[in-house]
Amino acid sequence: MVKKDNEKGFVDIVNGRYKPRGLFHIPEANQPIFNKDTGKLAGVTNPRDMTYIHTYGSEAIFFESLGKGKLMASRCDNDKCDTKGSIYEPFRIFCPDCLRRATPIDISDKARKTATIHSFIVTHRSGAFNTLPIPIKFINVEFDEEVVTILMSVLALGEPEIGKKIVPIFRTKTPTYTIMDLMFVLEGTSESELPEGFTF
Ligand SMILES: [Zn+2]
Repeated sequence: MVKKDNEKGFVDIVNGRYKPRGLFHIPEANQPIFNKDTGKLAGVTNPRDMTYIHTYGSEAIFFESLGKGKLMASRCDNDKCDTKGSIYEPFRIFCPDCLRRATPIDISDKARKTATIHSFIVTHRSGAFNTLPIPIKFINVEFDEEVVTILMSVLALGEPEIGKKIVPIFRTKTPTYTIMDLMFVLEGTSESELPEGFTF
């Protein structure tokens, strides 16, 4: 069910404080569960409609950049760290080795030049609230040797194959500011084939 604006919750930050407005908890009547064989009560349903406020903290730059067609990662620049220069994608706020704050960096070009499918899973059944087309082609994305982690994402078009070159695409037209703004396609895919709202 699509809600109207007067049935939604919104949040702004004004003068450094969160200012929620609208509806965050919508009450709904519960329903009894009867045993059709015996006519006896077995329980009740428990509907819950609530809007959760999810704060990104220092990861906000990653999600904001997706809508601008940029893939941000983070890198440890601490001279005293044994793993200085390691790049983390998914984005990590802190270096896991020295626990110092990592530096946000733009790896869009690196992703376009070096991303490959490390492994993949094709799933024909999804959980609740899925909006991805089924079957979902989940891919583990590998970049060059500077990026020391593997990124979990989705192949939007084409058939996955280990080692195949892929490029990122971004939901730049109406961004959701979530990970749903990033997917990948096989190298050589033309812009006209991309899903609605996505660009290279
Ligand atoms: Zn470090």
